[in-house]
Amino acid sequence: MIIDSHAHIFTDDMIEHKDRYCDDKQFALLYYGKAKIANVTLLMDSMQNNGVDASVALGFTWQKNEYARRHNEYMAMVQERHKGKVYAFGAIALDTDIYQQIKNIKQIGLYGIGEVAFYVNGFTEEEETIVSNILAIAGDMELPVCLHVNEPVGHIYTGKYTTDMQRLYALLSQYTNTAVICSHWGGGLLFYELMPEVKKSLQHVYYDSAATPFLYSDNIYSIAIAICGKEKILFGSDFPLLDYSRYNNSIQLLGENAQWIADKNMKKLLRLL
Ligand SMILES: [Zn+2]
Repeated sequence: MIIDSHAHIFTDDMIEHKDRYCDDKQFALLYYGKAKIANVTLLMDSMQNNGVDASVALGFTWQKNEYARRHNEYMAMVQERHKGKVYAFGAIALDTDIYQQIKNIKQIGLYGIGEVAFYVNGFTEEEETIVSNILAIAGDMELPVCLHVNEPVGHIYTGKYTTDMQRLYALLSQYTNTAVICSHWGGGLLFYELMPEVKKSLQHVYYDSAATPFLYSDNIYSIAIAICGKEKILFGSDFPLLDYSRYNNSIQLLGENAQWIADKNMKKLLRLL
């Protein structure tokens, strides 16, 4: 079985009137112009074409509460309509009370929170407070959090910003009851799990493979497994940026480990096991 842990979908209205939603700075920064966004129909088509059994549909980190609210309504609706195929995470708005938003995400039956990202401001002190709140509340409500983390070196691309590893590590070490998925291999955070105390502090942290073909050589899979263990790595595509076809070879090469990365670990996070 293959579960894609990192796919992005938006409402039909957001697709049809993409430019209208660009009055939200976070959305505009990532999607203004030609950048592709998809709805659940496109996601289901891609899953069918690629033999993907289920996807975690991620929301977005909006500036505006109204957009996050609409997004979450859609997520609840598609999850209900595609039971067992779509497991949705809730969108968050930066300008609104975090507790109320997460409470609502839990109430409407979504499976987690994210992808939490700070495209406009980067990961500064203010954002640190927001992440801290999210991790604390999500932990209490038993919801996993998907956090966008970029590698601090290498080429620049849309949506890339620097996350202070020291701050991120301190936050993650503090909220050990919250399952956190650090996207894009945690921007390299996983390499520090070679340090025994870091490994111990990050037992609740997972890393996904989203956008790997654009970022790393395929060796990253076996190296990450060797460092963190197969139980902490998740296959995620970053659909519609990329789909499963770009990962199939790398996943197949993992042999017995493949079932953990492409299935079991996410099932555990979704509490399906
Ligand atoms: Zn991301």
